[in-house]
Amino acid sequence: MAKKTKAAKAKTAADFTRKDYAALVDELHYHNKKYYLEDEPEISDADYDDQMRLLKEVEVLHPDWVQPDSPSLKVGGEVREDFAEVKHDPPMMSLDNAMDIAELRAFHDRLLKAGLKKPVYHVEPKFDGLAIDLVYEKGVLTVGSTRGDGEVGEDITHNVRTVANVPLRLMLDNPPEYLSIRGEVIIKLKDFEKLNKRQEKEGKKLFANPRNTAAGALRQQDSKEAKDKYLSFFPYTLAKIKDAKKRFDKDMRTQDAIWKKVFPALGFKTSAYHLVTEIEGVEKYYEKMTADRSSVEYDLDGLVIKLNDTTEWENFGATTKAPRWAIALKFPARSGITKLERVTYQVGRTGVITPVANLVPINLGGVMVSRASLHNADEIERLDLHEGDMVEVVRSGDVIPKVVAAKSDKRAKKAKPIKFITACPSCGKKLVREDVFFRCVNPACPEMNEAFLQFFVSKNGLDIEFLGAEWVAKLLKNKKIKDYADLFAITKEDLLEFEGMGELLANKILKSIDAKRQVPFPKLLTAVGIPNVGEHIASVLAEHFGSPESLAAASEAELTAVHEIGPGTAASVAEWFADKTNQQRLKKLQANGVVILKAENTRVSDDFDGKTFVFTGTLTKFTREGAEAEVKARGGRAASSVSKKTDFVVVGADAGSKAQKAKELGVAIISEAEFAKML
Ligand SMILES: [Zn+2]
Repeated sequence: MAKKTKAAKAKTAADFTRKDYAALVDELHYHNKKYYLEDEPEISDADYDDQMRLLKEVEVLHPDWVQPDSPSLKVGGEVREDFAEVKHDPPMMSLDNAMDIAELRAFHDRLLKAGLKKPVYHVEPKFDGLAIDLVYEKGVLTVGSTRGDGEVGEDITHNVRTVANVPLRLMLDNPPEYLSIRGEVIIKLKDFEKLNKRQEKEGKKLFANPRNTAAGALRQQDSKEAKDKYLSFFPYTLAKIKDAKKRFDKDMRTQDAIWKKVFPALGFKTSAYHLVTEIEGVEKYYEKMTADRSSVEYDLDGLVIKLNDTTEWENFGATTKAPRWAIALKFPARSGITKLERVTYQVGRTGVITPVANLVPINLGGVMVSRASLHNADEIERLDLHEGDMVEVVRSGDVIPKVVAAKSDKRAKKAKPIKFITACPSCGKKLVREDVFFRCVNPACPEMNEAFLQFFVSKNGLDIEFLGAEWVAKLLKNKKIKDYADLFAITKEDLLEFEGMGELLANKILKSIDAKRQVPFPKLLTAVGIPNVGEHIASVLAEHFGSPESLAAASEAELTAVHEIGPGTAASVAEWFADKTNQQRLKKLQANGVVILKAENTRVSDDFDGKTFVFTGTLTKFTREGAEAEVKARGGRAASSVSKKTDFVVVGADAGSKAQKAKELGVAIISEAEFAKML
């Protein structure tokens, strides 16, 4: 398909015919392949740039000619305001983890027990990047998406196109109708260095690590931003391809041949891998790579071990979560030794005190670490932590670094053991011990209230946009609010008193507060911070009891009778609702115009089972959340953007591009009144 042609030579953009244009597209694909796949460029970068410029000139003159696989899309600049949902076909599974050799052995033994005779393992790098799915229809890249929950991801095609070594067109003469290929988007370490040098030069903030930077880049609205981050793609699975056997015959039978032959034939470059016939071979390779991992050109967090014989995959099948024929063997977390400067204490939103180790900054796997969690008082005791200790700190993935050991052999003779505080660092009240935690139980504790309200307005709470941590702190400090219920009585005058607050921002804040006046019950239950009640337990309680009134009336025994509710949770829920302050706040909340909607999971019917709704424009009868809750209560799904999978788009006043897109896709468009009728 990609051929070297001369059709486009010696012409200016104005002279181009449509055939010339197609030939130039082919030619640029050919050079991309030479450069990215074969490492054998035939033309200079300057010549390539010239041809690309010519292509873009032609596309400006003839926008109707632009092909969906035009190499100009690689340059970026496409802007998308929201990311549609993409249903993965087939779903993207995750892998089970083995944390050490013993767990790897257990995996191997399970396969032997299940009847495997002589396993050959394909050992692949486990990239520390972002898994994506690429769909090619008739050989052209049509959808690139994030993994999401494995079933449904986000459409990030515009950004994926800019990834240098993602071909926009498969290198096959007779491409299949549908092909799905999965792999990881990463930033190579040398590219990451280059990126941060550039940031430094431009006086911008440095990026923390390649993984987060890649993740951020893939979720940019403007694909130029993604293009800028030197992303690379490495495939690992050919998830689906029509008539694969006919095409690739026995090359589809082993993962090794897929990597060596099929991927390159499609136009993808693979990373290095290792084929071993004995489990001992995997162990040896793991030990070597654990020691050598910094010699690889990208971040690795382990190895992926798969049965090489793909015909066996089906035989071994999968659990609900992961295939049985593969496992991710993780490298030990990154660690280092540094000095403990002091221990400080944070008051959390439920009053729990968390000790934090303040450290002499240390570089752990490319990230500077100066603070690490010490979890609780027991942990300090377990570590036998003393003032000025040298401590071992570990960072793994995105989690907060933690202190895993104190080096007692390096301890100064007179060093005193660290003693957990007995009074709250914020309000000075005596702390109360509950299990392993110390808590401040003063309802007026300033730091606790601040942490509580900051959570309440955050994404995990009610998600009140524009009202960030800083404004919450100011509102509290200036006594504009005392508790969460007061948020719903804030006036514009209150807000405008603050320096840096303008009319525009004040309006935005008030609008987003208004948007939360109808709040689903489980969401509120999560946001108010009842000890032991997280998102999941909140929805269990909400589903069972339906309303705050009936939950408040439930005895501890009734609570414990609910599946998944243990005695500890039952006690804290009962205690929370028995508390006068909490009762008053709930009342005040409702007095301030907040309506608590029935539980999301309380099905009123199955009328909308399997149907997806998108709301756009301003609704008059419902708030956005309220309308979405109604859909969910009937077994439907509410999505944020329109795609082929959308069943109904409900259009309010001033509907924008979503209504337009629905029209283009032929999705049913209904008014708010029609929606109300459906209910
Ligand atoms: Zn306190």
